[in-house]
Amino acid sequence: MPIPAQPSGQRQTRPPRSDDGQRSCPSAPAEPGALLIGIVGDDGIVQPVPTRLEIDADFITLAGKTGAPEARFRFAGKCVEGKCRQWTGNSCGVIERVLAGMADQKIDPAANLPRCAIRGSCRWYSQRGGEACRACIYVVTDQRVEEVSA
Ligand code: SF4
Repeated sequence: MPIPAQPSGQRQTRPPRSDDGQRSCPSAPAEPGALLIGIVGDDGIVQPVPTRLEIDADFITLAGKTGAPEARFRFAGKCVEGKCRQWTGNSCGVIERVLAGMADQKIDPAANLPRCAIRGSCRWYSQRGGEACRACIYVVTDQRVEEVSA
């Protein structure tokens, strides 16, 4: 069962490179310049996109024709820390909620670390290490489409 990450509409911007000290948000909105880092499969599990793939306005328009892109893809953007409502003061609350939800629902983490384009800068990885990565494939940013069609 996919774990909801965060409400859509949260403002975040272009993803940073891994060598500038800026952390990346691995559950960001679809915006031009964001990176496509995963595709949600029919089983609700995210298939990682391990190569760096930047999206543009055309991609967002096309992907949006059948619902919120964040329900079917995962994007990475810049972690804006205190400017994000998911920020707890010193960390991201999303991955903590996801890990707690998995424990509650007795969801087994992935056996291996998925290949990932942003591990060098990822906020969740910097916060929880491989534990975050093993949970990451269960995270769907926006589940509104599934909820409407259910
Ligand atoms: S939590 Fe791990 S797998 Fe997920 S985006 Fe971050 S580095 Fe990649």
